[in-house]
Amino acid sequence: MGALRDKFWELPLGDLTRAEWEALCDGCGKCCLHKIEDENTGTIEGTNVACKLLDTDTAQCIDYRNRRTYVPDCMRLTLKIVKDVTWLPASCAYRLRADGKPLKDWHYLISGDRESVKQAGVSVAGRVISEVDAGPLDHHLVEWDADETDWDGDSE
Ligand code: SF4
Repeated sequence: MGALRDKFWELPLGDLTRAEWEALCDGCGKCCLHKIEDENTGTIEGTNVACKLLDTDTAQCIDYRNRRTYVPDCMRLTLKIVKDVTWLPASCAYRLRADGKPLKDWHYLISGDRESVKQAGVSVAGRVISEVDAGPLDHHLVEWDADETDWDGDSE
């Protein structure tokens, strides 16, 4: 990974280097969960079913570098996509920064601890099932943002 500038996470998203862009992810794992879109209304509902490449204990991709070899439709998050997609969680570092908001206190770049995202109840680690074992997605609907609470007490 290239050098990361001091407090790069406070810079506009469009100014980040590739390494800084990658480092901005808080590792929550929520974008690696399946979603269901209602054909009629366009409403998107979350599930607790994870991509087969997600380690459900750690919420980390088991082969991030080669993920598109195994999961060709894995989304590569870009600045345009961050602005366009509605389903990124409210806590997502990219979404927060795209909206000009600061990172949360539990983000590892702020707290200095990769475990903070779990302690804050934001990570999906240990709370999801792999698509390999899940069966029908509509048996696994979950409203993830509903239980998200900041350490400072603000609900998102
Ligand atoms: S939802 Fe955002 S912060 Fe969470 S893992 Fe995905 S890209 Fe990273």
